[in-house]
Amino acid sequence: KFIAFEGGEGAGKSTQARLLVDALRERGLTVDLTREPGGTPGAEAIRSLLLDPPGEGWGAEAEALLFAAARSDHVARRIEPALERGEWVVSDRFVDSSRAYQGGAGELGDETIVTLHRIGSGGLRPDCTVLIEVGEDAVAHRLAARDGDESDAIGGRDIDYHREVAASFRRFFAADPEGFTVVDGNGSAEEVHHRVMRALEPLLAD
Ligand code: C5P
Repeated sequence: KFIAFEGGEGAGKSTQARLLVDALRERGLTVDLTREPGGTPGAEAIRSLLLDPPGEGWGAEAEALLFAAARSDHVARRIEPALERGEWVVSDRFVDSSRAYQGGAGELGDETIVTLHRIGSGGLRPDCTVLIEVGEDAVAHRLAARDGDESDAIGGRDIDYHREVAASFRRFFAADPEGFTVVDGNGSAEEVHHRVMRALEPLLAD
């Protein structure tokens, strides 16, 4: 099974992905925890290029192609082989991040991103995408905390951009409620983790 965590900045996705993996391993499952952009040597190298762009930064098309290239390598070399071995894969972000950031909030639109994903990664979809929702305050807080340290973030994007990211994620869920589960990300990591486990119960029982 393949589970992706999605959400905006400061939603706690990485923490929740880790807690889920611990819980799945406790149940005796073999689980690969990975992330995007990244997850393979090649994709991690592309991540560095994206987060710390040389020169004046990427244009919208080049940026989307780099995300798609990183994902192509990640899917072909890590995710699909693990799934073929019958393992579980948990990814901190996947294609819906590209649809929300480069597509919805960016300049390219959903169709372009979906097409790039079809070409690059065979259109692979997670069995379930967990969308962690937090208010705008958490996003603003995370952005403020990054001020002066853009090393792990793509700079120059304002709160309106991130609002559009959040709206895009909500639209994806509305269009495909079966493929997504929305989890309230407010509260302690433990509380949110319990919500995630409850939401994934049907998948775990399968
Ligand atoms: O999730 P994480 O904080 O590792 O993401 C790193 C950065 O990459 C974040 O600033 C996020 O906004 C950005 N990103 C993006 N488009 C994606 C995925 C991540 O702009 N498709």
